[in-house]
Amino acid sequence: MPGHRPFGLRRTGNLHVKEVAVFRSRFMPCPDCGESVERGEPTPHVCDPARVVEFQMFGLRREVDRLDDALREHLATPSGRFEAWMAWHEVRRTS
Ligand SMILES: [Zn+2]
Repeated sequence: MPGHRPFGLRRTGNLHVKEVAVFRSRFMPCPDCGESVERGEPTPHVCDPARVVEFQMFGLRREVDRLDDALREHLATPSGRFEAWMAWHEVRRTS
C-alpha cells in the first residue's frame, strides 16, 4: 500500500522533535544572571553577584544608550541650554 511509506517517515520526524524537546526542557537560562541551569540538579543554582550585574547591564545597554541620546537632544533645546548655563553658574558659585 502507498500509505505505508509516509507513516515510516513521520515516525522518524517525531523522534527528532522529541529529542529537541528533551534538550530544551533540561537546561534553562537563569532569569537573574543568564547562566544555563540544568533542571533537577541536586544543589540549587546560586547566582554569582558579578554575573548578575553584568547580565543586567547587558540587558539595559539600549536604555543607557537612549538616555545618552535623550540628554544630548534635551541639552540642544533652549531650555536645555538654559539648564546647562544655570548648572555652570551653580558650579562656579559653590567652588
Ligand atoms: Zn543565576
